[in-house]
Amino acid sequence: MVEGFNPVRYSIIKGKCPREIVMLVGNGCKWRKCRFCDYHLDSSPDKEFNYKINKAELEKVTGMFGELEVINSGSFVDLDGNTIKMIKDICVNKKIKKIHFECHWIHKDEVKEFKKEFMDLGVEPVIRLGLETFDYDFRENYLVKGIDEKNPKIIAEYFDEINLLQGIEGQTAESMIWDIEMGLKHFKRVYVNIMTENGMPIKPDKMVIEQFRTKVYPRFKDNDKVDILLENTDFGVGENKC
Ligand code: SF4
Repeated sequence: MVEGFNPVRYSIIKGKCPREIVMLVGNGCKWRKCRFCDYHLDSSPDKEFNYKINKAELEKVTGMFGELEVINSGSFVDLDGNTIKMIKDICVNKKIKKIHFECHWIHKDEVKEFKKEFMDLGVEPVIRLGLETFDYDFRENYLVKGIDEKNPKIIAEYFDEINLLQGIEGQTAESMIWDIEMGLKHFKRVYVNIMTENGMPIKPDKMVIEQFRTKVYPRFKDNDKVDILLENTDFGVGENKC
């Protein structure tokens, strides 16, 4: 865990695709090589400690929209068994009909069985991949994302939704639009995250972000299948309470 980081971990997303969201803690991303990410530091090897945090947040879920998003700065496989059990119980008890989780490509073969466990409860599972871009060379040689598959049709056999990362050097308005359109063509929903400064080598690029604001954002802001996070705390979770 990051000392002094005491974030908001439960929030309500209104507007497009209304849902509750919880930012839980797992034992950490197993990839940890992305050159833009330090989110995985929000993790701990201590299962009981994690469950205690997660339980307190999951108890806030009311089921008001029948839809819940679970993020944990990694993949669903990083969550402890008690947390997963509690999520399932909440789905049943709060009548949640759709649930979103995130997952890295290296766990793609665990997605099918995990989804079945929720489908057996009458819940539609939606699994999101942090793809970041469809440009393979940029993604694997610059971002170091760890997705050794170029074909979006094959990626879409495992994953329902994707995250895209925009606002970094090397991108243009055209490349960002192309990525979002590719995402909409192959996946149910697209989440565009504008790069935020952190301790990693890849930094936000002000000029690219300006291109996004003026040429990309107006084009997709009203599209129900596109969520755009201009700040990484736009969903209401992740902001430090300290
Ligand atoms: S972006 Fe995701 S996969 Fe990459 S290091 Fe961060 S948590 Fe892990």
